[in-house]
Amino acid sequence: MSNTKFIFVTGGVASSLGKGIISASIAKLLISRGFTVSIQKLDPYINIDPGTLNPYEHGECYVTDDGAETDLDLGHYERFTNVPTSQANNVTTGVVYQSVISKERKGEFLGETVQVIPHITDEIKYRIKLLANSGNLDFLITEIGGTVGDIESLPFIEAVRQMCWELGNSCIVVHLTLIPYLAAAGELKTKPTQHSVKLLQEQGVQPDIIVCRTERSLNEGIRNKIALFCNISPSSVIECIDAESIYDVPILMKKEGLDLEILRKADVPVIGEPDLEDWEKFLHKLKNPKSQVHIGLIGKYVELKDAYSSINEAFIHAGAANECFVDVKLVHSEFLDESNMHEMLNGLDGILVAPGFGERGIEGKILAIRYARENGIPFLGICLGMQCAVIEFGRNVLGYKGAHSTEFDTSTPYPVIDMMEMQKKISGLGGTMRLGTYPCHLQNGSIAADVYGTGNISERHRHRFEFNNEYKEAFSQAGMTSVGLNEKDNLVEIIELKGHPWFVGVQFHPEYRSTVANPHPLFVKFIEAAVDYASGTK
Ligand code: GLN
Repeated sequence: MSNTKFIFVTGGVASSLGKGIISASIAKLLISRGFTVSIQKLDPYINIDPGTLNPYEHGECYVTDDGAETDLDLGHYERFTNVPTSQANNVTTGVVYQSVISKERKGEFLGETVQVIPHITDEIKYRIKLLANSGNLDFLITEIGGTVGDIESLPFIEAVRQMCWELGNSCIVVHLTLIPYLAAAGELKTKPTQHSVKLLQEQGVQPDIIVCRTERSLNEGIRNKIALFCNISPSSVIECIDAESIYDVPILMKKEGLDLEILRKADVPVIGEPDLEDWEKFLHKLKNPKSQVHIGLIGKYVELKDAYSSINEAFIHAGAANECFVDVKLVHSEFLDESNMHEMLNGLDGILVAPGFGERGIEGKILAIRYARENGIPFLGICLGMQCAVIEFGRNVLGYKGAHSTEFDTSTPYPVIDMMEMQKKISGLGGTMRLGTYPCHLQNGSIAADVYGTGNISERHRHRFEFNNEYKEAFSQAGMTSVGLNEKDNLVEIIELKGHPWFVGVQFHPEYRSTVANPHPLFVKFIEAAVDYASGTK
Protein backbone atom coordinates (compact mmCIF):
# COMPACT_ATOMS: atom_id res chain seq x y z
CA MET A 1 0.00 0.00 0.00
CA SER A 2 2.80 2.39 0.88
CA ASN A 3 3.34 3.15 -2.80
CA THR A 4 -0.28 3.40 -3.84
CA LYS A 5 -1.38 6.82 -5.03
CA PHE A 6 -4.95 7.75 -4.20
CA ILE A 7 -7.09 9.68 -6.63
CA PHE A 8 -10.37 10.99 -5.25
CA VAL A 9 -13.09 12.05 -7.65
CA THR A 10 -15.71 14.41 -6.25
CA GLY A 11 -18.58 16.13 -8.01
CA GLY A 12 -20.07 19.59 -7.80
CA VAL A 13 -22.91 21.79 -9.13
CA ALA A 14 -25.16 18.98 -10.41
CA SER A 15 -25.54 15.24 -10.30
CA SER A 16 -25.22 13.06 -13.42
CA LEU A 17 -22.14 14.89 -14.72
CA GLY A 18 -20.43 11.56 -15.27
CA LYS A 19 -18.05 11.05 -12.35
CA GLY A 20 -18.16 7.33 -13.14
CA ILE A 21 -17.09 7.88 -16.74
CA ILE A 22 -14.32 10.31 -15.70
CA SER A 23 -13.07 7.84 -13.08
CA ALA A 24 -13.15 5.01 -15.62
CA SER A 25 -11.39 7.21 -18.20
CA ILE A 26 -8.60 8.14 -15.78
CA ALA A 27 -8.19 4.44 -14.99
CA LYS A 28 -8.10 3.55 -18.68
CA LEU A 29 -5.37 6.13 -19.37
CA LEU A 30 -3.26 5.01 -16.41
CA ILE A 31 -3.66 1.31 -17.26
CA SER A 32 -2.66 2.13 -20.85
CA ARG A 33 0.54 3.53 -19.39
CA GLY A 34 1.23 0.20 -17.67
CA PHE A 35 0.03 1.04 -14.14
CA THR A 36 -2.15 -1.24 -11.98
CA VAL A 37 -5.36 0.56 -11.13
CA SER A 38 -8.65 -0.17 -9.42
CA ILE A 39 -11.69 2.06 -8.98
CA GLN A 40 -13.94 2.20 -5.96
CA LYS A 41 -17.29 3.90 -5.47
CA LEU A 42 -18.32 5.31 -2.10
CA ASP A 43 -22.09 5.77 -2.02
CA PRO A 44 -23.51 8.06 0.64
CA TYR A 45 -26.95 6.39 0.92
CA ILE A 46 -27.93 4.27 3.89
CA ASN A 47 -28.93 1.10 2.06
CA ILE A 48 -26.31 -1.63 2.52
CA ASP A 49 -26.25 -2.05 -1.26
CA PRO A 50 -28.50 -1.18 -4.23
CA GLY A 51 -29.79 -4.77 -4.41
CA THR A 52 -32.99 -3.74 -2.63
CA LEU A 53 -33.46 -0.51 -4.62
CA ASN A 54 -35.80 -0.49 -7.57
CA PRO A 55 -34.57 0.77 -10.95
CA TYR A 56 -36.61 3.99 -10.61
CA GLU A 57 -34.46 4.83 -7.59
CA HIS A 58 -31.12 3.66 -8.74
CA GLY A 59 -31.02 2.37 -12.31
CA GLU A 60 -29.44 -1.02 -12.90
CA CYS A 61 -28.03 -3.10 -10.08
CA TYR A 62 -24.64 -4.37 -11.26
CA VAL A 63 -23.41 -7.75 -10.03
CA THR A 64 -19.74 -8.61 -9.56
CA ASP A 65 -18.02 -12.00 -9.79
CA ASP A 66 -18.09 -12.40 -6.01
CA GLY A 67 -21.84 -11.76 -5.98
CA ALA A 68 -21.93 -8.19 -4.71
CA GLU A 69 -24.99 -6.18 -5.79
CA THR A 70 -23.44 -2.83 -6.62
CA ASP A 71 -23.74 0.57 -8.21
CA LEU A 72 -23.95 0.68 -11.99
CA ASP A 73 -20.77 2.78 -12.14
CA LEU A 74 -18.85 -0.42 -11.39
CA GLY A 75 -20.13 -1.64 -14.75
CA HIS A 76 -18.47 1.36 -16.42
CA TYR A 77 -15.27 0.68 -14.52
CA GLU A 78 -15.15 -2.91 -15.79
CA ARG A 79 -16.17 -2.03 -19.34
CA PHE A 80 -13.44 0.61 -19.62
CA THR A 81 -10.62 -1.14 -17.77
CA ASN A 82 -11.39 -4.83 -18.33
CA VAL A 83 -10.43 -5.35 -14.67
CA PRO A 84 -13.07 -7.17 -12.59
CA THR A 85 -14.42 -5.42 -9.48
CA SER A 86 -15.65 -6.96 -6.25
CA GLN A 87 -17.55 -6.24 -3.05
CA ALA A 88 -14.67 -4.05 -1.84
CA ASN A 89 -15.14 -1.70 -4.82
CA ASN A 90 -18.49 -0.39 -3.58
CA VAL A 91 -18.94 0.93 -0.05
CA THR A 92 -22.12 2.61 1.18
CA THR A 93 -22.89 4.60 4.33
CA GLY A 94 -25.02 1.60 5.32
CA VAL A 95 -22.02 -0.75 5.18
CA VAL A 96 -19.82 1.69 7.10
CA TYR A 97 -22.33 2.24 9.90
CA GLN A 98 -23.28 -1.46 10.09
CA SER A 99 -19.65 -2.37 10.57
CA VAL A 100 -18.98 0.34 13.19
CA ILE A 101 -22.16 -0.49 15.10
CA SER A 102 -21.39 -4.21 15.11
CA LYS A 103 -17.90 -3.45 16.49
CA GLU A 104 -19.52 -1.30 19.17
CA ARG A 105 -21.83 -4.16 20.13
CA LYS A 106 -18.85 -6.46 20.48
CA GLY A 107 -17.24 -3.95 22.85
CA GLU A 108 -14.35 -3.28 20.49
CA PHE A 109 -14.26 0.44 21.29
CA LEU A 110 -13.47 -0.26 24.95
CA GLY A 111 -15.94 2.19 26.43
CA GLU A 112 -15.24 5.10 24.07
CA THR A 113 -18.00 7.32 22.75
CA VAL A 114 -18.47 6.22 19.15
CA GLN A 115 -18.50 9.25 16.84
CA VAL A 116 -18.51 10.25 13.18
CA ILE A 117 -14.94 11.49 13.64
CA PRO A 118 -12.88 9.39 14.19
CA HIS A 119 -14.84 6.12 14.13
CA ILE A 120 -16.91 6.50 10.97
CA THR A 121 -14.12 8.28 9.09
CA ASP A 122 -11.62 5.62 10.26
CA GLU A 123 -13.90 2.91 8.88
CA ILE A 124 -14.13 4.76 5.54
CA LYS A 125 -10.35 5.17 5.36
CA TYR A 126 -9.88 1.53 6.35
CA ARG A 127 -12.07 0.43 3.43
CA ILE A 128 -10.17 2.64 1.00
CA LYS A 129 -6.77 1.38 2.19
CA LEU A 130 -7.95 -2.24 2.33
CA LEU A 131 -8.67 -2.23 -1.40
CA ALA A 132 -5.37 -0.48 -2.16
CA ASN A 133 -3.51 -3.14 -0.14
CA SER A 134 -5.35 -6.15 -1.49
CA GLY A 135 -4.71 -5.26 -5.10
CA ASN A 136 -1.07 -4.14 -4.80
CA LEU A 137 -2.11 -1.07 -6.75
CA ASP A 138 -0.17 1.81 -8.24
CA PHE A 139 -3.33 3.89 -8.20
CA LEU A 140 -6.67 3.56 -6.46
CA ILE A 141 -9.37 5.85 -7.81
CA THR A 142 -12.14 6.50 -5.29
CA GLU A 143 -15.28 8.11 -6.60
CA ILE A 144 -17.42 9.85 -3.99
CA GLY A 145 -21.09 9.52 -4.91
CA GLY A 146 -23.44 12.49 -4.74
CA THR A 147 -22.56 16.17 -4.95
CA VAL A 148 -20.37 18.23 -2.65
CA GLY A 149 -22.62 19.92 -0.11
CA ASP A 150 -24.92 16.91 0.37
CA ILE A 151 -25.36 16.18 4.08
CA GLU A 152 -24.86 12.46 3.44
CA SER A 153 -21.46 12.86 1.85
CA LEU A 154 -19.86 14.90 4.65
CA PRO A 155 -18.12 11.96 6.41
CA PHE A 156 -16.72 10.77 3.06
CA ILE A 157 -15.30 14.21 2.21
CA GLU A 158 -13.89 14.41 5.74
CA ALA A 159 -12.19 11.04 5.22
CA VAL A 160 -10.70 12.42 1.98
CA ARG A 161 -9.46 15.50 3.87
CA GLN A 162 -7.80 13.30 6.49
CA MET A 163 -6.13 11.10 3.87
CA CYS A 164 -4.79 14.16 2.03
CA TRP A 165 -3.44 15.47 5.34
CA GLU A 166 -1.86 12.11 6.23
CA LEU A 167 -0.44 11.18 2.85
CA GLY A 168 0.36 14.53 1.18
CA ASN A 169 1.00 14.27 -2.53
CA SER A 170 0.11 10.58 -2.59
CA CYS A 171 -3.46 11.90 -2.75
CA ILE A 172 -4.92 13.81 -5.68
CA VAL A 173 -8.38 15.30 -5.67
CA VAL A 174 -10.14 15.62 -9.01
CA HIS A 175 -13.31 17.71 -8.86
CA LEU A 176 -15.83 17.28 -11.66
CA THR A 177 -18.03 20.29 -12.21
CA LEU A 178 -20.34 21.94 -14.70
CA ILE A 179 -19.69 25.11 -16.70
CA PRO A 180 -23.14 26.04 -17.97
CA TYR A 181 -23.64 28.05 -21.16
CA LEU A 182 -26.22 30.79 -20.77
CA ALA A 183 -27.69 31.42 -24.18
CA ALA A 184 -29.21 34.77 -23.16
CA ALA A 185 -25.79 36.06 -22.06
CA GLY A 186 -23.99 34.17 -24.81
CA GLU A 187 -21.43 33.06 -22.24
CA LEU A 188 -20.05 30.13 -20.28
CA LYS A 189 -20.46 30.75 -16.58
CA THR A 190 -17.88 29.79 -13.96
CA LYS A 191 -19.73 30.96 -10.84
CA PRO A 192 -21.38 27.61 -9.99
CA THR A 193 -17.94 26.00 -10.15
CA GLN A 194 -16.44 28.69 -7.93
CA HIS A 195 -19.20 28.01 -5.39
CA SER A 196 -18.83 24.28 -5.43
CA VAL A 197 -15.05 24.51 -5.03
CA LYS A 198 -15.56 26.95 -2.13
CA LEU A 199 -17.83 24.39 -0.51
CA LEU A 200 -15.16 21.75 -0.89
CA GLN A 201 -12.53 24.12 0.52
CA GLU A 202 -14.78 24.89 3.51
CA GLN A 203 -14.70 21.17 4.20
CA GLY A 204 -10.91 21.30 4.16
CA VAL A 205 -10.33 19.82 0.72
CA GLN A 206 -8.48 21.69 -2.02
CA PRO A 207 -9.00 20.13 -5.43
CA ASP A 208 -5.82 19.54 -7.44
CA ILE A 209 -7.56 19.23 -10.78
CA ILE A 210 -10.92 20.55 -11.96
CA VAL A 211 -12.62 18.71 -14.79
CA CYS A 212 -15.23 20.94 -16.41
CA ARG A 213 -18.25 19.43 -18.14
CA THR A 214 -19.30 21.87 -20.82
CA GLU A 215 -21.19 22.01 -24.10
CA ARG A 216 -18.77 24.62 -25.51
CA SER A 217 -15.01 24.82 -25.61
CA LEU A 218 -13.35 26.68 -22.71
CA ASN A 219 -11.23 29.59 -23.91
CA GLU A 220 -8.05 30.67 -22.17
CA GLY A 221 -9.83 33.45 -20.30
CA ILE A 222 -12.28 31.00 -18.74
CA ARG A 223 -9.51 28.55 -17.86
CA ASN A 224 -7.49 31.30 -16.18
CA LYS A 225 -10.52 32.53 -14.30
CA ILE A 226 -11.32 29.05 -12.94
CA ALA A 227 -7.65 28.59 -12.01
CA LEU A 228 -7.47 31.93 -10.16
CA PHE A 229 -10.73 31.60 -8.27
CA CYS A 230 -10.27 27.94 -7.42
CA ASN A 231 -6.62 28.09 -6.42
CA ILE A 232 -5.18 25.72 -9.05
CA SER A 233 -2.84 26.11 -11.99
CA PRO A 234 -4.38 26.74 -15.45
CA SER A 235 -2.96 23.41 -16.70
CA SER A 236 -5.09 21.70 -14.04
CA VAL A 237 -8.30 23.03 -15.58
CA ILE A 238 -9.44 20.20 -17.82
CA GLU A 239 -12.16 20.66 -20.38
CA CYS A 240 -14.61 17.79 -20.74
CA ILE A 241 -16.79 18.73 -23.66
CA ASP A 242 -20.00 16.79 -24.40
CA ALA A 243 -19.04 13.69 -26.36
CA GLU A 244 -20.86 11.62 -28.96
CA SER A 245 -20.12 8.45 -26.98
CA ILE A 246 -18.91 7.77 -23.44
CA TYR A 247 -16.08 5.80 -25.07
CA ASP A 248 -14.69 9.05 -26.55
CA VAL A 249 -13.98 10.40 -23.08
CA PRO A 250 -10.59 8.68 -22.46
CA ILE A 251 -9.36 10.08 -25.78
CA LEU A 252 -10.67 13.57 -24.95
CA MET A 253 -9.04 13.38 -21.50
CA LYS A 254 -5.74 12.32 -23.06
CA LYS A 255 -5.89 15.30 -25.42
CA GLU A 256 -6.47 17.56 -22.43
CA GLY A 257 -3.49 15.97 -20.64
CA LEU A 258 -5.45 14.76 -17.61
CA ASP A 259 -3.20 11.71 -17.16
CA LEU A 260 -0.04 13.87 -17.34
CA GLU A 261 -1.45 16.28 -14.82
CA ILE A 262 -2.23 13.42 -12.43
CA LEU A 263 1.25 11.92 -12.81
CA ARG A 264 2.86 15.31 -12.23
CA LYS A 265 0.81 15.94 -9.09
CA ALA A 266 1.61 12.46 -7.80
CA ASP A 267 5.34 12.85 -8.50
CA VAL A 268 5.32 9.84 -10.78
CA PRO A 269 7.80 10.00 -13.67
CA VAL A 270 6.15 10.31 -17.06
CA ILE A 271 7.44 7.68 -19.46
CA GLY A 272 6.11 7.41 -23.01
CA GLU A 273 2.51 7.64 -24.08
CA PRO A 274 -0.58 5.60 -23.18
CA ASP A 275 -1.13 2.70 -25.58
CA LEU A 276 -4.68 3.27 -26.83
CA GLU A 277 -4.39 1.49 -30.16
CA ASP A 278 -7.07 -1.14 -29.44
CA TRP A 279 -9.35 1.50 -27.97
CA GLU A 280 -8.98 3.64 -31.11
CA LYS A 281 -9.69 0.58 -33.28
CA PHE A 282 -12.85 -0.08 -31.30
CA LEU A 283 -13.94 3.55 -31.70
CA HIS A 284 -13.23 3.43 -35.41
CA LYS A 285 -15.42 0.34 -35.85
CA LEU A 286 -18.11 1.85 -33.64
CA LYS A 287 -18.26 4.99 -35.73
CA ASN A 288 -17.93 3.42 -39.17
CA PRO A 289 -20.52 0.64 -39.25
CA LYS A 290 -20.96 -1.30 -42.46
CA SER A 291 -24.45 -2.55 -41.65
CA GLN A 292 -27.36 -1.88 -39.36
CA VAL A 293 -29.77 -4.03 -37.37
CA HIS A 294 -32.90 -3.19 -35.43
CA ILE A 295 -33.06 -4.94 -32.07
CA GLY A 296 -36.11 -4.85 -29.82
CA LEU A 297 -35.30 -4.53 -26.13
CA ILE A 298 -38.40 -5.72 -24.36
CA GLY A 299 -38.69 -4.65 -20.73
CA LYS A 300 -40.83 -2.80 -18.26
CA TYR A 301 -38.27 -0.11 -17.42
CA VAL A 302 -37.40 0.95 -20.96
CA GLU A 303 -38.26 4.59 -20.25
CA LEU A 304 -35.47 4.73 -17.67
CA LYS A 305 -32.11 5.50 -19.25
CA ASP A 306 -30.05 3.55 -16.72
CA ALA A 307 -32.26 0.54 -16.04
CA TYR A 308 -30.65 -1.65 -18.70
CA SER A 309 -27.27 0.05 -18.74
CA SER A 310 -25.11 -3.07 -19.12
CA ILE A 311 -27.34 -4.50 -21.87
CA ASN A 312 -27.16 -1.25 -23.85
CA GLU A 313 -23.37 -1.12 -23.51
CA ALA A 314 -23.04 -4.81 -24.45
CA PHE A 315 -24.97 -3.98 -27.65
CA ILE A 316 -22.46 -1.21 -28.37
CA HIS A 317 -19.49 -3.58 -27.87
CA ALA A 318 -21.10 -6.31 -29.97
CA GLY A 319 -22.11 -3.82 -32.66
CA ALA A 320 -18.53 -2.58 -32.98
CA ALA A 321 -17.26 -6.18 -33.10
CA ASN A 322 -19.62 -6.81 -36.03
CA GLU A 323 -19.01 -3.37 -37.57
CA CYS A 324 -22.73 -2.96 -37.36
CA PHE A 325 -24.88 -0.16 -35.98
CA VAL A 326 -27.27 -1.63 -33.43
CA ASP A 327 -30.43 0.41 -33.41
CA VAL A 328 -32.13 -0.49 -30.14
CA LYS A 329 -35.89 -0.13 -30.22
CA LEU A 330 -37.27 0.09 -26.71
CA VAL A 331 -40.50 -1.83 -26.35
CA HIS A 332 -42.47 -1.38 -23.14
CA SER A 333 -43.64 -4.87 -22.22
CA GLU A 334 -46.54 -3.57 -20.14
CA PHE A 335 -48.14 -2.01 -23.21
CA LEU A 336 -47.45 -4.82 -25.66
CA ASP A 337 -50.51 -6.93 -26.51
CA GLU A 338 -52.08 -8.93 -29.36
CA SER A 339 -53.62 -5.78 -30.86
CA ASN A 340 -50.35 -3.87 -31.30
CA MET A 341 -47.87 -6.75 -31.41
CA HIS A 342 -47.30 -6.63 -35.15
CA GLU A 343 -46.93 -2.87 -35.25
CA MET A 344 -44.49 -2.85 -32.30
CA LEU A 345 -42.35 -5.82 -33.35
CA ASN A 346 -42.50 -5.69 -37.13
CA GLY A 347 -39.13 -4.93 -38.72
CA LEU A 348 -37.03 -6.16 -35.82
CA ASP A 349 -33.99 -8.28 -36.70
CA GLY A 350 -33.53 -9.53 -33.15
CA ILE A 351 -35.48 -9.57 -29.91
CA LEU A 352 -33.94 -9.38 -26.44
CA VAL A 353 -36.20 -9.93 -23.47
CA ALA A 354 -34.77 -8.26 -20.39
CA PRO A 355 -34.28 -9.48 -16.83
CA GLY A 356 -36.67 -8.36 -14.13
CA PHE A 357 -38.76 -9.01 -11.06
CA GLY A 358 -42.49 -8.93 -10.47
CA GLU A 359 -45.50 -9.56 -12.65
CA ARG A 360 -45.91 -6.21 -14.39
CA GLY A 361 -45.25 -6.54 -18.11
CA ILE A 362 -44.85 -10.34 -18.07
CA GLU A 363 -47.56 -11.09 -20.65
CA GLY A 364 -45.98 -8.60 -23.08
CA LYS A 365 -42.64 -10.34 -22.71
CA ILE A 366 -44.24 -13.72 -23.36
CA LEU A 367 -45.97 -12.35 -26.45
CA ALA A 368 -42.71 -10.93 -27.84
CA ILE A 369 -41.08 -14.34 -27.36
CA ARG A 370 -43.89 -16.08 -29.23
CA TYR A 371 -43.39 -13.60 -32.06
CA ALA A 372 -39.63 -14.31 -32.15
CA ARG A 373 -40.19 -18.08 -32.00
CA GLU A 374 -42.90 -18.21 -34.67
CA ASN A 375 -41.13 -15.83 -37.06
CA GLY A 376 -37.61 -17.25 -36.74
CA ILE A 377 -36.30 -13.93 -35.38
CA PRO A 378 -33.04 -14.21 -33.40
CA PHE A 379 -33.88 -14.21 -29.70
CA LEU A 380 -31.85 -13.70 -26.56
CA GLY A 381 -33.63 -14.04 -23.23
CA ILE A 382 -31.77 -12.98 -20.11
CA CYS A 383 -32.75 -14.33 -16.68
CA LEU A 384 -36.48 -13.45 -16.47
CA GLY A 385 -36.34 -13.29 -20.28
CA MET A 386 -35.23 -16.92 -20.37
CA GLN A 387 -37.88 -17.88 -17.80
CA CYS A 388 -40.56 -16.22 -19.95
CA ALA A 389 -39.34 -18.25 -22.95
CA VAL A 390 -39.93 -21.42 -20.93
CA ILE A 391 -43.41 -20.25 -19.91
CA GLU A 392 -44.26 -19.32 -23.51
CA PHE A 393 -43.11 -22.70 -24.83
CA GLY A 394 -45.00 -24.52 -22.08
CA ARG A 395 -48.23 -22.69 -22.85
CA ASN A 396 -48.13 -22.46 -26.64
CA VAL A 397 -46.18 -25.52 -27.79
CA LEU A 398 -46.75 -28.08 -25.04
CA GLY A 399 -50.31 -26.88 -24.45
CA TYR A 400 -49.81 -26.38 -20.71
CA LYS A 401 -52.70 -24.01 -20.14
CA GLY A 402 -51.92 -21.55 -17.34
CA ALA A 403 -48.22 -22.52 -17.20
CA HIS A 404 -46.33 -19.93 -15.18
CA SER A 405 -43.55 -19.13 -12.77
CA THR A 406 -44.47 -19.51 -9.14
CA GLU A 407 -43.02 -16.01 -8.71
CA PHE A 408 -46.25 -14.76 -10.31
CA ASP A 409 -48.79 -17.53 -9.74
CA THR A 410 -48.27 -19.84 -6.80
CA SER A 411 -51.22 -22.04 -7.79
CA THR A 412 -50.38 -22.53 -11.47
CA PRO A 413 -51.15 -26.08 -12.67
CA TYR A 414 -47.81 -26.06 -14.53
CA PRO A 415 -45.06 -24.46 -12.41
CA VAL A 416 -42.49 -24.62 -15.22
CA ILE A 417 -40.38 -22.03 -13.38
CA ASP A 418 -40.14 -22.52 -9.64
CA MET A 419 -38.18 -21.23 -6.70
CA MET A 420 -34.81 -22.90 -6.26
CA GLU A 421 -34.72 -25.35 -3.33
CA MET A 422 -31.84 -23.46 -1.75
CA GLN A 423 -33.93 -20.26 -1.79
CA LYS A 424 -36.93 -21.71 0.01
CA LYS A 425 -35.32 -21.48 3.46
CA ILE A 426 -34.32 -17.83 3.00
CA SER A 427 -36.44 -15.08 4.52
CA GLY A 428 -34.54 -11.74 4.25
CA LEU A 429 -34.32 -9.83 0.98
CA GLY A 430 -30.91 -8.09 0.84
CA GLY A 431 -28.09 -10.10 -0.75
CA THR A 432 -29.96 -13.40 -0.51
CA MET A 433 -30.47 -14.35 -4.15
CA ARG A 434 -28.23 -16.79 -6.03
CA LEU A 435 -25.61 -14.16 -6.76
CA GLY A 436 -22.29 -14.00 -8.57
CA THR A 437 -20.29 -16.38 -10.69
CA TYR A 438 -21.19 -20.06 -11.05
CA PRO A 439 -19.86 -22.61 -13.53
CA CYS A 440 -21.93 -24.05 -16.36
CA HIS A 441 -21.27 -27.00 -18.63
CA LEU A 442 -22.32 -26.68 -22.27
CA GLN A 443 -23.72 -29.45 -24.45
CA ASN A 444 -21.67 -30.32 -27.51
CA GLY A 445 -23.18 -29.12 -30.75
CA SER A 446 -25.33 -26.44 -29.09
CA ILE A 447 -25.38 -22.81 -30.25
CA ALA A 448 -23.97 -21.91 -26.83
CA ALA A 449 -20.97 -24.25 -27.21
CA ASP A 450 -20.32 -22.72 -30.62
CA VAL A 451 -20.69 -19.16 -29.28
CA TYR A 452 -18.27 -19.67 -26.41
CA GLY A 453 -15.92 -22.02 -28.28
CA THR A 454 -15.52 -24.09 -25.10
CA GLY A 455 -17.49 -26.61 -23.06
CA ASN A 456 -17.13 -24.98 -19.66
CA ILE A 457 -17.99 -21.40 -18.82
CA SER A 458 -18.78 -19.34 -15.77
CA GLU A 459 -21.16 -16.41 -15.66
CA ARG A 460 -22.74 -14.03 -13.15
CA HIS A 461 -26.19 -14.63 -11.66
CA ARG A 462 -28.93 -12.81 -9.77
CA HIS A 463 -32.08 -14.87 -9.32
CA ARG A 464 -34.32 -16.89 -7.02
CA PHE A 465 -36.36 -18.85 -9.56
CA GLU A 466 -35.27 -21.52 -11.98
CA PHE A 467 -36.36 -23.92 -14.72
CA ASN A 468 -38.32 -26.71 -13.00
CA ASN A 469 -36.39 -29.93 -13.72
CA GLU A 470 -39.60 -31.99 -13.65
CA TYR A 471 -40.45 -30.56 -17.05
CA LYS A 472 -37.03 -30.95 -18.61
CA GLU A 473 -37.77 -34.16 -20.45
CA ALA A 474 -41.11 -33.00 -21.89
CA PHE A 475 -39.60 -29.71 -23.06
CA SER A 476 -36.64 -31.46 -24.61
CA GLN A 477 -38.92 -33.91 -26.49
CA ALA A 478 -40.87 -30.96 -27.89
CA GLY A 479 -37.74 -29.09 -29.01
CA MET A 480 -36.70 -26.79 -26.15
CA THR A 481 -33.47 -28.30 -24.88
CA SER A 482 -31.39 -27.54 -21.80
CA VAL A 483 -27.94 -27.10 -23.27
CA GLY A 484 -26.18 -25.46 -20.33
CA LEU A 485 -26.21 -27.00 -16.86
CA ASN A 486 -24.78 -26.24 -13.49
CA GLU A 487 -24.00 -29.84 -12.66
CA LYS A 488 -23.29 -29.38 -8.97
CA ASP A 489 -26.73 -27.95 -8.16
CA ASN A 490 -28.49 -29.53 -11.13
CA LEU A 491 -29.73 -26.19 -12.47
CA VAL A 492 -30.62 -25.36 -16.06
CA GLU A 493 -28.56 -22.36 -17.14
CA ILE A 494 -29.25 -22.22 -20.90
CA ILE A 495 -32.15 -23.27 -23.12
CA GLU A 496 -32.27 -23.38 -26.90
CA LEU A 497 -34.92 -24.14 -29.48
CA LYS A 498 -34.46 -26.82 -32.14
CA GLY A 499 -35.35 -25.74 -35.66
CA HIS A 500 -35.02 -22.04 -34.92
CA PRO A 501 -32.00 -20.20 -36.38
CA TRP A 502 -30.92 -18.51 -33.13
CA PHE A 503 -33.01 -18.82 -29.98
CA VAL A 504 -31.07 -18.74 -26.72
CA GLY A 505 -32.28 -18.16 -23.19
CA VAL A 506 -29.77 -17.78 -20.36
CA GLN A 507 -30.46 -17.84 -16.64
CA PHE A 508 -27.34 -15.75 -16.01
CA HIS A 509 -26.40 -12.19 -17.00
CA PRO A 510 -23.89 -12.07 -19.87
CA GLU A 511 -24.26 -8.28 -20.06
CA TYR A 512 -22.27 -7.80 -16.82
CA ARG A 513 -19.21 -9.38 -18.41
CA SER A 514 -19.11 -7.46 -21.69
CA THR A 515 -16.22 -4.98 -21.96
CA VAL A 516 -14.65 -2.94 -24.75
CA ALA A 517 -11.64 -5.29 -24.76
CA ASN A 518 -13.82 -8.42 -24.50
CA PRO A 519 -17.26 -7.95 -26.05
CA HIS A 520 -19.44 -10.74 -24.73
CA PRO A 521 -19.61 -13.63 -27.24
CA LEU A 522 -23.35 -14.15 -26.70
CA PHE A 523 -24.05 -10.54 -27.66
CA VAL A 524 -21.55 -10.66 -30.53
CA LYS A 525 -23.17 -13.80 -31.99
CA PHE A 526 -26.69 -12.54 -31.32
CA ILE A 527 -25.93 -9.42 -33.35
CA GLU A 528 -24.26 -11.58 -36.02
CA ALA A 529 -27.46 -13.67 -36.20
CA ALA A 530 -29.49 -10.46 -36.47
CA VAL A 531 -27.25 -9.25 -39.31
CA ASP A 532 -27.84 -12.59 -41.09
CA TYR A 533 -31.57 -12.33 -40.46
CA ALA A 534 -31.63 -8.75 -41.77
CA SER A 535 -29.85 -9.74 -44.94
CA GLY A 536 -32.21 -12.67 -45.39
CA THR A 537 -29.49 -15.31 -45.46
CA LYS A 538 -31.15 -17.44 -42.79
N1 GLN B 1 -37.32 -12.68 -10.97
C1 GLN B 1 -36.56 -13.78 -11.52
C2 GLN B 1 -35.88 -14.58 -10.44
O1 GLN B 1 -35.69 -14.12 -9.32
C3 GLN B 1 -35.57 -13.30 -12.55
C4 GLN B 1 -34.49 -12.44 -11.98
C5 GLN B 1 -33.74 -11.64 -13.01
O2 GLN B 1 -34.18 -11.47 -14.14
N2 GLN B 1 -32.60 -11.11 -12.63
O3 GLN B 1 -35.48 -15.69 -10.68
